Amino acid sequence: MSYHHRYSDGRMADLPLGKVVCVGRNYADHAAELNNPVPVVPMLFIKPSTAVVPLEEPFAIPDGLGRVHFETEMAILIGKRLKAADEQSAADAIVGVGLALDLTLRDLQDDLKCQGHPWEKAKAFDGACPLSAFVPADQVKDLQDVQIRLRVNGETRQDGNSRYMLNPVLPLLSYISRYFTLEPGDVVLTGTPAGVGPIESGDRLDVELVDILERQTAVL
Ligand code: ZN
Repeated sequence: MSYHHRYSDGRMADLPLGKVVCVGRNYADHAAELNNPVPVVPMLFIKPSTAVVPLEEPFAIPDGLGRVHFETEMAILIGKRLKAADEQSAADAIVGVGLALDLTLRDLQDDLKCQGHPWEKAKAFDGACPLSAFVPADQVKDLQDVQIRLRVNGETRQDGNSRYMLNPVLPLLSYISRYFTLEPGDVVLTGTPAGVGPIESGDRLDVELVDILERQTAVL
């Protein structure tokens, strides 16, 4: 069954799910907690559409592949084609703002990094991207002043603000579009603030773009 995006008021968006383009280390505090250098240019990777599952439903995580980390991220829904786009075109192409978990097989990723191999298996596996419905973009006043929060079993684990992004949304979209054409239905994950950590079966998650979108979910 093909996955169509939805808006947070329940309306279906006329946008089939495409690829998910992600940026690594887009908050200096998160790069520091994993002992990673802060990249000079955006570090991009892609999750295929098969990684996406609805955030609103309990989701499964891989078993026996080491630690699975949450990374809570603001997700941008693209509504117009962007190829080598400037920031104004990028702004015009944003139709929705949502929540995503960039699930990461952290032990496997550490292993792949050590070997100098690509991260795909650690980042792009089936179910690696629980993704919410989207709030229409015109309901979000300032993309660079959004508080992103995650509670696991009632305890706050991530609480950061998009104003601390190293690459703000519009320059990021412009940069991405030089390498990967963004098409209607594609999603961009804008990086995670500090506080990432493991999740386990049975955990309850409260995920929030404060005053914009709030979702409860759980790990099966
Ligand atoms: Zn991430």
